[in-house]
Amino acid sequence: MAYTERALEIAARVEDFVRTVVIPYEKDTRRTSHGPSEELAAELKQKARDAGLMTPHILPDGSHLMHSEVALVLRKSGLSPLGPLALNTAAPDEGNMYLLGKVGSAEQKERFLAPMIAGDARSAFFMTEPAADGGAGSDPSMLKTRAVLDGNHWVINGRKAFITGADGAKVGIVMANSGTEDKLAATMFLVDLPDPAIRIERVLDTIDNSMPGGHAIIAIENLRIPADQILGELHKGFDYAQIRLSPARLTHCMRWLGACTRAQEIATDYACRRHAFGKPLIDHEGVGFPLAENMIDLKQCELIIDWCAGVLDSGELGTTESSMAKVAVSEALFRIADRCVQVMGGTGVTQDTIVEQVFREIRAFRIYDGPTEVHKWSLAKKIKRAHKTA
Ligand SMILES: Cc1cc2nc3c(=O)[nH]c(=O)nc-3n(C[C@H](O)[C@H](O)[C@H](O)COP(=O)(O)OP(=O)(O)OC[C@H]3O[C@@H](n4cnc5c(N)ncnc54)[C@H](O)[C@@H]3O)c2cc1C
Repeated sequence: MAYTERALEIAARVEDFVRTVVIPYEKDTRRTSHGPSEELAAELKQKARDAGLMTPHILPDGSHLMHSEVALVLRKSGLSPLGPLALNTAAPDEGNMYLLGKVGSAEQKERFLAPMIAGDARSAFFMTEPAADGGAGSDPSMLKTRAVLDGNHWVINGRKAFITGADGAKVGIVMANSGTEDKLAATMFLVDLPDPAIRIERVLDTIDNSMPGGHAIIAIENLRIPADQILGELHKGFDYAQIRLSPARLTHCMRWLGACTRAQEIATDYACRRHAFGKPLIDHEGVGFPLAENMIDLKQCELIIDWCAGVLDSGELGTTESSMAKVAVSEALFRIADRCVQVMGGTGVTQDTIVEQVFREIRAFRIYDGPTEVHKWSLAKKIKRAHKTA
Protein backbone atom coordinates (compact mmCIF):
# COMPACT_ATOMS: atom_id res chain seq x y z
CA MET A 1 0.00 0.00 0.00
CA ALA A 2 1.41 3.38 -0.99
CA TYR A 3 0.40 5.74 1.78
CA THR A 4 0.19 9.47 1.09
CA GLU A 5 3.00 11.74 2.29
CA ARG A 6 0.46 13.43 4.54
CA ALA A 7 -0.57 10.15 6.20
CA LEU A 8 3.05 9.08 6.67
CA GLU A 9 3.93 12.38 8.29
CA ILE A 10 0.96 12.42 10.71
CA ALA A 11 1.40 8.72 11.54
CA ALA A 12 5.09 9.21 12.36
CA ARG A 13 4.26 12.02 14.76
CA VAL A 14 1.45 9.99 16.32
CA GLU A 15 3.73 6.99 16.81
CA ASP A 16 6.43 9.11 18.41
CA PHE A 17 3.86 10.72 20.72
CA VAL A 18 2.37 7.38 21.79
CA ARG A 19 5.75 5.78 22.41
CA THR A 20 7.33 8.67 24.27
CA VAL A 21 4.42 10.40 26.03
CA VAL A 22 1.51 7.95 26.34
CA ILE A 23 3.21 4.63 27.14
CA PRO A 24 4.68 5.97 30.43
CA TYR A 25 1.06 6.49 31.60
CA GLU A 26 0.16 2.83 31.18
CA LYS A 27 0.77 2.10 34.85
CA ASP A 28 -0.96 5.26 36.07
CA THR A 29 -3.08 4.45 39.10
CA ARG A 30 -5.92 6.64 37.83
CA ARG A 31 -7.08 3.73 35.64
CA THR A 32 -10.27 2.44 37.31
CA SER A 33 -12.22 -0.75 36.58
CA HIS A 34 -14.62 1.45 34.56
CA GLY A 35 -11.87 3.08 32.53
CA PRO A 36 -9.32 5.87 32.99
CA SER A 37 -10.55 8.64 35.29
CA GLU A 38 -11.73 11.91 33.74
CA GLU A 39 -8.67 13.59 35.28
CA LEU A 40 -6.30 11.16 33.57
CA ALA A 41 -8.19 11.49 30.27
CA ALA A 42 -8.00 15.30 30.45
CA GLU A 43 -4.27 15.22 31.24
CA LEU A 44 -3.53 12.91 28.30
CA LYS A 45 -5.65 15.00 25.96
CA GLN A 46 -3.83 18.15 26.99
CA LYS A 47 -0.53 16.46 26.09
CA ALA A 48 -1.91 15.63 22.65
CA ARG A 49 -3.14 19.20 22.23
CA ASP A 50 0.29 20.56 23.22
CA ALA A 51 1.87 18.28 20.63
CA GLY A 52 -0.55 19.53 17.95
CA LEU A 53 -2.00 16.03 17.66
CA MET A 54 -5.53 16.33 19.00
CA THR A 55 -7.87 14.40 16.65
CA PRO A 56 -5.12 13.83 14.06
CA HIS A 57 -7.44 12.21 11.49
CA ILE A 58 -9.50 15.42 11.14
CA LEU A 59 -7.59 18.34 9.69
CA PRO A 60 -7.76 21.91 11.06
CA ASP A 61 -10.07 22.92 8.16
CA GLY A 62 -12.57 20.27 9.33
CA SER A 63 -11.88 17.84 6.48
CA HIS A 64 -11.41 14.17 7.23
CA LEU A 65 -8.41 12.13 6.13
CA MET A 66 -9.17 9.44 3.55
CA HIS A 67 -9.97 6.05 5.05
CA SER A 68 -6.70 4.65 3.69
CA GLU A 69 -4.84 7.46 5.50
CA VAL A 70 -6.85 6.96 8.68
CA ALA A 71 -5.79 3.29 8.57
CA LEU A 72 -2.16 4.22 9.12
CA VAL A 73 -2.74 6.98 11.67
CA LEU A 74 -5.19 5.04 13.86
CA ARG A 75 -2.98 1.96 13.83
CA LYS A 76 -0.22 4.05 15.37
CA SER A 77 -2.61 5.61 17.89
CA GLY A 78 -3.51 2.08 19.02
CA LEU A 79 0.06 1.16 19.98
CA SER A 80 -0.97 1.87 23.57
CA PRO A 81 -4.44 1.16 25.03
CA LEU A 82 -4.37 4.80 26.19
CA GLY A 83 -3.32 6.18 22.79
CA PRO A 84 -6.80 6.49 21.21
CA LEU A 85 -8.11 8.23 24.34
CA ALA A 86 -5.24 10.74 24.39
CA LEU A 87 -5.45 11.47 20.68
CA ASN A 88 -9.26 11.49 20.41
CA THR A 89 -9.30 8.60 17.96
CA ALA A 90 -11.20 6.27 20.32
CA ALA A 91 -14.62 4.69 19.97
CA PRO A 92 -17.38 5.76 20.21
CA ASP A 93 -16.27 9.38 19.63
CA GLU A 94 -14.41 8.65 16.42
CA GLY A 95 -17.48 6.99 14.83
CA ASN A 96 -19.82 9.64 16.19
CA MET A 97 -17.64 12.46 14.82
CA TYR A 98 -17.60 10.74 11.43
CA LEU A 99 -21.39 10.40 11.38
CA LEU A 100 -22.00 13.98 12.50
CA GLY A 101 -19.58 15.22 9.86
CA LYS A 102 -21.50 13.27 7.20
CA VAL A 103 -25.12 13.98 8.11
CA GLY A 104 -25.22 16.79 10.69
CA SER A 105 -26.57 20.25 9.73
CA ALA A 106 -24.23 23.26 9.92
CA GLU A 107 -25.79 24.24 13.28
CA GLN A 108 -25.50 20.71 14.65
CA LYS A 109 -21.86 20.55 13.63
CA GLU A 110 -21.14 23.85 15.34
CA ARG A 111 -22.96 22.89 18.53
CA PHE A 112 -22.19 19.18 18.91
CA LEU A 113 -19.30 18.25 16.61
CA ALA A 114 -16.88 21.15 17.15
CA PRO A 115 -16.40 20.49 20.92
CA MET A 116 -15.86 16.81 20.15
CA ILE A 117 -13.15 17.49 17.57
CA ALA A 118 -11.51 19.88 20.03
CA GLY A 119 -11.41 17.03 22.54
CA ASP A 120 -13.56 19.02 24.98
CA ALA A 121 -16.63 16.76 24.81
CA ARG A 122 -16.99 13.00 24.88
CA SER A 123 -20.00 11.34 23.27
CA ALA A 124 -22.09 8.18 23.51
CA PHE A 125 -24.07 6.18 20.94
CA PHE A 126 -27.34 4.75 22.29
CA MET A 127 -28.49 1.89 20.11
CA THR A 128 -28.35 -1.50 21.89
CA GLU A 129 -31.09 -2.41 24.36
CA PRO A 130 -31.22 -4.87 27.26
CA ALA A 131 -31.69 -8.53 26.31
CA ALA A 132 -34.03 -8.83 29.31
CA ASP A 133 -36.44 -6.37 27.61
CA GLY A 134 -36.28 -8.22 24.28
CA GLY A 135 -34.71 -5.09 22.76
CA ALA A 136 -32.29 -4.47 19.88
CA GLY A 137 -28.94 -6.28 19.98
CA SER A 138 -27.58 -8.27 17.05
CA ASP A 139 -30.95 -7.60 15.44
CA PRO A 140 -31.49 -3.81 15.30
CA SER A 141 -35.05 -4.29 14.03
CA MET A 142 -35.98 -5.30 17.60
CA LEU A 143 -35.65 -1.61 18.58
CA LYS A 144 -38.06 -0.93 21.44
CA THR A 145 -37.19 2.64 22.48
CA ARG A 146 -40.05 4.85 21.23
CA ALA A 147 -40.02 8.46 20.03
CA VAL A 148 -43.45 10.08 19.87
CA LEU A 149 -44.16 13.55 18.47
CA ASP A 150 -45.69 16.01 20.94
CA GLY A 151 -46.05 19.50 19.42
CA ASN A 152 -42.56 20.62 18.37
CA HIS A 153 -40.85 17.99 20.48
CA TRP A 154 -40.16 14.30 20.32
CA VAL A 155 -40.70 12.45 23.57
CA ILE A 156 -38.46 9.41 24.00
CA ASN A 157 -38.87 6.48 26.36
CA GLY A 158 -36.94 3.21 26.58
CA ARG A 159 -33.89 1.48 27.95
CA LYS A 160 -30.42 1.03 26.47
CA ALA A 161 -27.54 -1.32 27.26
CA PHE A 162 -23.74 -1.39 26.93
CA ILE A 163 -23.63 2.34 26.21
CA THR A 164 -19.92 3.10 26.15
CA GLY A 165 -18.85 6.29 27.84
CA ALA A 166 -22.39 7.45 28.70
CA ASP A 167 -21.18 8.32 32.19
CA GLY A 168 -19.35 11.62 31.67
CA ALA A 169 -20.36 12.16 28.02
CA LYS A 170 -21.56 15.59 26.87
CA VAL A 171 -23.10 14.56 23.54
CA GLY A 172 -25.48 11.66 22.91
CA ILE A 173 -26.88 10.11 19.74
CA VAL A 174 -30.04 8.22 20.64
CA MET A 175 -31.64 5.76 18.25
CA ALA A 176 -35.40 5.35 18.68
CA ASN A 177 -38.44 4.08 16.80
CA SER A 178 -40.16 7.17 15.42
CA GLY A 179 -42.67 5.07 13.48
CA THR A 180 -45.50 3.20 15.13
CA GLU A 181 -45.49 0.11 17.30
CA ASP A 182 -46.44 -1.92 14.20
CA LYS A 183 -44.28 -0.09 11.68
CA LEU A 184 -40.65 0.43 12.70
CA ALA A 185 -38.88 3.58 11.47
CA ALA A 186 -35.68 4.50 13.26
CA THR A 187 -34.48 8.06 13.84
CA MET A 188 -31.29 9.35 15.46
CA PHE A 189 -31.61 12.22 17.92
CA LEU A 190 -28.84 14.47 19.20
CA VAL A 191 -28.90 15.29 22.91
CA ASP A 192 -26.86 17.37 25.31
CA LEU A 193 -25.65 15.29 28.24
CA PRO A 194 -26.09 14.91 31.10
CA ASP A 195 -29.88 15.13 31.00
CA PRO A 196 -32.06 14.11 33.97
CA ALA A 197 -34.29 12.16 31.57
CA ILE A 198 -31.33 9.92 30.66
CA ARG A 199 -30.55 8.02 33.83
CA ILE A 200 -27.61 5.69 34.30
CA GLU A 201 -29.09 2.63 36.02
CA ARG A 202 -25.66 1.07 36.46
CA VAL A 203 -22.23 0.88 34.90
CA LEU A 204 -21.52 -2.73 33.97
CA ASP A 205 -18.47 -4.58 35.27
CA THR A 206 -16.94 -5.76 32.01
CA ILE A 207 -13.81 -7.51 30.77
CA ASP A 208 -12.25 -4.22 29.64
CA ASN A 209 -11.18 -1.02 31.39
CA SER A 210 -9.79 1.35 28.79
CA MET A 211 -12.93 3.37 27.99
CA PRO A 212 -13.71 6.32 30.31
CA GLY A 213 -17.19 5.91 31.73
CA GLY A 214 -17.27 2.17 31.04
CA HIS A 215 -20.43 0.68 29.54
CA ALA A 216 -23.81 1.53 31.06
CA ILE A 217 -27.40 0.39 31.28
CA ILE A 218 -29.57 3.44 30.71
CA ALA A 219 -33.18 4.36 31.37
CA ILE A 220 -34.66 7.06 29.13
CA GLU A 221 -37.75 8.55 30.72
CA ASN A 222 -39.78 11.23 28.93
CA LEU A 223 -36.77 12.77 27.23
CA ARG A 224 -38.03 15.80 25.27
CA ILE A 225 -36.04 16.69 22.18
CA PRO A 226 -36.83 19.60 19.84
CA ALA A 227 -37.35 18.55 16.22
CA ASP A 228 -34.22 20.42 15.09
CA GLN A 229 -32.14 17.93 17.08
CA ILE A 230 -32.98 15.08 14.73
CA LEU A 231 -29.68 14.00 13.21
CA GLY A 232 -30.12 14.23 9.45
CA GLU A 233 -33.66 13.30 8.44
CA LEU A 234 -36.59 11.70 10.21
CA HIS A 235 -36.90 7.90 9.84
CA LYS A 236 -33.41 7.58 8.32
CA GLY A 237 -31.76 6.11 11.44
CA PHE A 238 -30.97 2.71 9.94
CA ASP A 239 -29.47 4.30 6.80
CA TYR A 240 -27.24 6.47 8.98
CA ALA A 241 -26.30 3.47 11.11
CA GLN A 242 -24.96 1.92 7.90
CA ILE A 243 -22.96 5.09 7.12
CA ARG A 244 -21.42 4.93 10.59
CA LEU A 245 -20.98 1.19 10.88
CA SER A 246 -18.61 0.29 8.05
CA PRO A 247 -15.96 2.93 8.87
CA ALA A 248 -16.45 2.40 12.62
CA ARG A 249 -15.91 -1.34 12.30
CA LEU A 250 -12.78 -0.66 10.33
CA THR A 251 -11.36 1.89 12.76
CA HIS A 252 -11.75 -0.67 15.57
CA CYS A 253 -9.67 -3.01 13.38
CA MET A 254 -7.04 -0.29 12.94
CA ARG A 255 -6.67 0.54 16.63
CA TRP A 256 -6.60 -3.12 17.65
CA LEU A 257 -4.02 -3.85 14.96
CA GLY A 258 -1.80 -1.26 16.64
CA ALA A 259 -2.35 -2.84 20.06
CA CYS A 260 -1.49 -6.33 18.80
CA THR A 261 1.57 -5.03 16.96
CA ARG A 262 2.82 -3.76 20.30
CA ALA A 263 1.90 -7.04 22.06
CA GLN A 264 3.96 -8.86 19.45
CA GLU A 265 6.92 -6.50 20.09
CA ILE A 266 6.71 -7.21 23.82
CA ALA A 267 6.38 -10.97 23.35
CA THR A 268 9.28 -11.00 20.89
CA ASP A 269 11.47 -9.11 23.32
CA TYR A 270 10.61 -11.63 26.04
CA ALA A 271 11.27 -14.61 23.77
CA CYS A 272 14.66 -13.24 22.69
CA ARG A 273 15.87 -12.41 26.21
CA ARG A 274 14.45 -15.32 28.18
CA HIS A 275 16.28 -18.64 28.10
CA ALA A 276 15.06 -22.18 28.77
CA PHE A 277 16.78 -25.49 28.19
CA GLY A 278 20.04 -23.84 27.21
CA LYS A 279 18.87 -21.38 24.56
CA PRO A 280 16.67 -18.32 24.03
CA LEU A 281 12.97 -19.18 23.96
CA ILE A 282 12.64 -17.94 20.38
CA ASP A 283 15.02 -20.68 19.24
CA HIS A 284 12.51 -23.28 20.41
CA GLU A 285 10.14 -24.01 17.54
CA GLY A 286 7.17 -23.97 19.95
CA VAL A 287 7.87 -20.29 20.64
CA GLY A 288 9.35 -19.13 17.33
CA PHE A 289 6.48 -20.53 15.26
CA PRO A 290 3.67 -18.71 17.12
CA LEU A 291 5.62 -15.48 16.71
CA ALA A 292 6.01 -16.24 13.00
CA GLU A 293 2.27 -16.99 12.75
CA ASN A 294 1.59 -13.66 14.44
CA MET A 295 3.78 -11.91 11.90
CA ILE A 296 1.74 -13.46 9.08
CA ASP A 297 -1.61 -12.69 10.75
CA LEU A 298 -0.58 -9.08 11.44
CA LYS A 299 0.31 -8.53 7.79
CA GLN A 300 -2.95 -10.13 6.63
CA CYS A 301 -4.90 -7.85 8.98
CA GLU A 302 -3.07 -4.82 7.63
CA LEU A 303 -3.81 -5.83 4.04
CA ILE A 304 -7.52 -6.50 4.51
CA ILE A 305 -7.91 -3.21 6.41
CA ASP A 306 -6.16 -1.29 3.64
CA TRP A 307 -8.25 -3.08 1.00
CA CYS A 308 -11.51 -2.23 2.77
CA ALA A 309 -10.35 1.36 3.36
CA GLY A 310 -9.74 1.63 -0.38
CA VAL A 311 -13.31 0.46 -1.05
CA LEU A 312 -14.67 3.12 1.34
CA ASP A 313 -12.47 5.75 -0.31
CA SER A 314 -14.08 4.88 -3.65
CA GLY A 315 -17.39 6.10 -2.21
CA GLU A 316 -18.93 2.65 -1.69
CA LEU A 317 -20.72 1.85 1.60
CA GLY A 318 -18.43 -1.18 1.95
CA THR A 319 -20.95 -3.20 3.94
CA THR A 320 -19.79 -6.58 2.63
CA GLU A 321 -16.12 -5.68 2.70
CA SER A 322 -16.25 -4.25 6.22
CA SER A 323 -18.05 -7.39 7.44
CA MET A 324 -15.29 -9.51 5.91
CA ALA A 325 -12.57 -7.32 7.38
CA LYS A 326 -14.19 -7.15 10.81
CA VAL A 327 -14.50 -10.93 11.09
CA ALA A 328 -11.03 -11.63 9.71
CA VAL A 329 -9.28 -9.01 11.85
CA SER A 330 -11.11 -9.54 15.15
CA GLU A 331 -10.60 -13.30 14.98
CA ALA A 332 -6.95 -13.06 13.87
CA LEU A 333 -6.03 -10.43 16.46
CA PHE A 334 -7.60 -12.52 19.22
CA ARG A 335 -5.36 -15.43 18.17
CA ILE A 336 -2.34 -13.11 18.09
CA ALA A 337 -2.98 -11.77 21.58
CA ASP A 338 -3.46 -15.31 22.89
CA ARG A 339 -0.16 -16.44 21.37
CA CYS A 340 1.64 -13.44 22.89
CA VAL A 341 0.36 -14.42 26.34
CA GLN A 342 1.52 -18.02 25.85
CA VAL A 343 4.99 -17.00 24.63
CA MET A 344 5.45 -14.92 27.78
CA GLY A 345 4.52 -17.67 30.23
CA GLY A 346 3.34 -16.42 33.62
CA THR A 347 4.43 -12.86 32.82
CA GLY A 348 1.86 -12.86 29.99
CA VAL A 349 -1.04 -12.96 32.42
CA THR A 350 0.30 -10.25 34.73
CA GLN A 351 -0.28 -6.53 34.47
CA ASP A 352 3.49 -5.98 34.21
CA THR A 353 2.96 -5.48 30.47
CA ILE A 354 -0.04 -4.47 28.35
CA VAL A 355 -0.20 -7.96 26.79
CA GLU A 356 -2.61 -9.11 29.51
CA GLN A 357 -4.87 -6.09 28.89
CA VAL A 358 -4.82 -6.51 25.12
CA PHE A 359 -5.70 -10.21 25.41
CA ARG A 360 -8.51 -9.51 27.88
CA GLU A 361 -10.02 -6.55 26.08
CA ILE A 362 -9.83 -7.79 22.52
CA ARG A 363 -12.28 -10.57 23.42
CA ALA A 364 -15.16 -8.12 23.28
CA PHE A 365 -14.18 -7.00 19.77
CA ARG A 366 -15.51 -10.31 18.43
CA ILE A 367 -18.93 -9.19 19.75
CA TYR A 368 -19.35 -5.42 19.37
CA ASP A 369 -20.00 -3.80 16.00
CA GLY A 370 -21.62 -7.07 14.98
CA PRO A 371 -20.68 -10.47 16.42
CA THR A 372 -18.64 -12.71 14.10
CA GLU A 373 -21.62 -15.03 13.57
CA VAL A 374 -23.93 -12.21 12.52
CA HIS A 375 -21.43 -11.00 9.90
CA LYS A 376 -20.97 -14.54 8.59
CA TRP A 377 -24.74 -15.04 8.53
CA SER A 378 -25.21 -11.84 6.56
CA LEU A 379 -22.37 -12.78 4.17
CA ALA A 380 -23.93 -16.23 3.66
CA LYS A 381 -27.23 -14.59 2.71
CA LYS A 382 -25.39 -12.50 0.13
CA ILE A 383 -23.61 -15.58 -1.23
CA LYS A 384 -26.98 -17.33 -1.64
CA ARG A 385 -28.51 -14.28 -3.34
CA ALA A 386 -25.59 -14.01 -5.74
CA HIS A 387 -25.85 -17.73 -6.51
CA LYS A 388 -29.56 -17.39 -7.26
CA THR A 389 -28.87 -14.47 -9.61
CA ALA A 390 -26.09 -16.34 -11.36
C1 LIG B 1 -17.60 -3.61 25.17
C2 LIG B 1 -18.86 -3.31 24.44
C3 LIG B 1 -19.16 -2.00 24.10
C4 LIG B 1 -20.36 -1.70 23.46
N1 LIG B 1 -20.68 -0.39 23.19
C5 LIG B 1 -21.89 -0.08 22.66
C6 LIG B 1 -22.29 1.28 22.50
O1 LIG B 1 -21.55 2.22 22.82
N2 LIG B 1 -23.53 1.54 21.98
C7 LIG B 1 -24.39 0.54 21.62
O2 LIG B 1 -25.48 0.85 21.16
N3 LIG B 1 -24.03 -0.77 21.79
C8 LIG B 1 -22.82 -1.10 22.31
N4 LIG B 1 -22.46 -2.42 22.49
C9 LIG B 1 -23.43 -3.47 22.19
C10 LIG B 1 -23.05 -4.35 21.01
O3 LIG B 1 -23.21 -3.67 19.81
C11 LIG B 1 -23.91 -5.62 21.15
O4 LIG B 1 -23.38 -6.35 22.25
C12 LIG B 1 -23.93 -6.46 19.90
O5 LIG B 1 -24.64 -5.83 18.86
C13 LIG B 1 -24.60 -7.82 20.17
O6 LIG B 1 -25.85 -7.67 20.75
P1 LIG B 1 -26.19 -8.48 22.10
O7 LIG B 1 -25.09 -8.29 23.07
O8 LIG B 1 -27.56 -8.11 22.51
O9 LIG B 1 -26.11 -10.00 21.65
P2 LIG B 1 -27.36 -10.94 21.19
O10 LIG B 1 -28.15 -10.24 20.13
O11 LIG B 1 -28.06 -11.41 22.39
O12 LIG B 1 -26.56 -12.14 20.53
C14 LIG B 1 -25.83 -13.08 21.31
C15 LIG B 1 -25.02 -13.98 20.39
O13 LIG B 1 -25.89 -14.69 19.52
C16 LIG B 1 -25.22 -14.99 18.31
N5 LIG B 1 -26.07 -14.58 17.16
C17 LIG B 1 -26.90 -13.52 17.07
N6 LIG B 1 -27.49 -13.48 15.85
C18 LIG B 1 -27.02 -14.54 15.17
C19 LIG B 1 -27.22 -15.05 13.85
N7 LIG B 1 -28.03 -14.42 12.98
N8 LIG B 1 -26.56 -16.17 13.50
C20 LIG B 1 -25.72 -16.80 14.36
N9 LIG B 1 -25.47 -16.36 15.59
C21 LIG B 1 -26.11 -15.25 16.00
C22 LIG B 1 -23.88 -14.25 18.32
O14 LIG B 1 -22.86 -15.17 18.67
C23 LIG B 1 -24.06 -13.25 19.45
O15 LIG B 1 -22.81 -12.93 20.07
C24 LIG B 1 -21.25 -2.75 23.11
C25 LIG B 1 -20.93 -4.06 23.44
C26 LIG B 1 -19.76 -4.35 24.10
C27 LIG B 1 -19.47 -5.78 24.45
